[in-house]
Amino acid sequence: MGLIGMWRGRRPAAKPPLPMRLDARNLALAAKGFLSEEDGTRLYELAYAASELGPCVEIGGYCGKSALFLGEGCRARGRHRLFSVDHHNGSEEQQPGEEYFDAELYNAAGGRVDTFPHFMANIRKAGLEEWVFPIVGRSSLIAADWSRDSNLGMVFIDGGHSKESVEADYRGWSRLIVPGGWLCFHDIYPNPADGGQAPYEVFEAARATGRWRFEGLFGSLGVLRRR
Ligand code: SAH
Ligand code: MG
Repeated sequence: MGLIGMWRGRRPAAKPPLPMRLDARNLALAAKGFLSEEDGTRLYELAYAASELGPCVEIGGYCGKSALFLGEGCRARGRHRLFSVDHHNGSEEQQPGEEYFDAELYNAAGGRVDTFPHFMANIRKAGLEEWVFPIVGRSSLIAADWSRDSNLGMVFIDGGHSKESVEADYRGWSRLIVPGGWLCFHDIYPNPADGGQAPYEVFEAARATGRWRFEGLFGSLGVLRRR
């Protein structure tokens, strides 16, 4: 690393020395969720690099698919851990009668979608209980009580996909990222034919602030790094 890099507090992104443990990878691939294998592998690598700098936070845990990739990256690095935020009652499009409703995730007694038991079962099966900590509740309320000296190494935004929700997650969590840390958005679709535009619009607005270095678009994962 050059002097300028040090002066700015940037550190080089370290690649994991080993690919992901095969059993954790297979569990992640088998978990219910919305993440391609390519996106998952990238998250594993990012968490490996970022968890050296500070704790990682994901918004949108669902059944633990992304948490398994991120948490395994933290475990492989052996420093900081993953906090996974979700109210576990599903997004608008996951409610009964909507496009992404899954009857297996419906808790009839509770009268609502409940992904929390599925999330925990997957974390336990992968042996990641000491690397992934769920925080159950509404993201914007939880963010409000985290202070800037939380020094997060990484934030992965994949919660509610409305403009309001993505904006609140960006505002609430990105301010906690340490210089040199990563901010990643899922479901970035520059072409409206491929998917909803809210994450892409917030991602572009973040880029336009000049406070983030654009690291690339990988699959539907948009990656920024704090200057
Ligand atoms: N990352 C997951 C997919 C997340 S789906 C995977 O890898 O498969 C989006 C999740 O965001 C849902 O589980 C939903 O309950 C959660 N969510 C939506 N809005 C939220 C909010 N305001 N606060 C907390 N969680 C929210
Ligand atoms: Mg997503």
